[in-house]
Amino acid sequence: MTIAIYPGSFDPIHNGHLDIVARAARIFEKIIWAAYARPSKSLLFSADERMEFMRTAAGGMPNVQVQLYQGLTVDLARRVGARAIVRGLRVTNDFEIEYQMALTNAQQAGEIETVCLMTSAQYAFLSSSILKEVALAGGKISEMVPPYVEPALVQRLAQLSGAQDTEQRVSPQV
Ligand code: ADP
Repeated sequence: MTIAIYPGSFDPIHNGHLDIVARAARIFEKIIWAAYARPSKSLLFSADERMEFMRTAAGGMPNVQVQLYQGLTVDLARRVGARAIVRGLRVTNDFEIEYQMALTNAQQAGEIETVCLMTSAQYAFLSSSILKEVALAGGKISEMVPPYVEPALVQRLAQLSGAQDTEQRVSPQV
């Protein structure tokens, strides 16, 4: 069986990620869709919350299995018997990062290939950070995320900006 993993932060998932996982699921017999438990970037959603969104999204894809992991991506790939790591490419800047990561992973585990799928044109601009910025500014995000992510994202950002307002009000004037 040709197994691939699709790793990322997925904080939260958006339609660009869903497009990649669905396309990868048509190429490989099994996809392990894997979220980093503790990425180096700061997160909006907990591991459980990110996984819950992914599980819901994977519901309609019988050969996609969701998993949380720590440590090296190539170690996860070896554990689950994957031959490939799937990544998505949007802009040229992504290429630099993915190329560096692919070479590092190849150096760690030469038997595992990195397979990059080009983004679909309608998601070329979409990233979790753009999504958060638009949502925070009250913009329309319904075409960027699945319907179960939108209210959770709006609510989380409202909680955070509420907390920041309170912090600013109570901090002493200088
Ligand atoms: P990471 O922290 O590893 O970049 P992300 O959750 O941001 O994790 O992204 C996971 C993967 O999905 C990466 O390969 C990224 O390039 C890809 N990706 C993100 N957004 C898109 C998009 N709009 N179209 C295609 N691929 C995307």
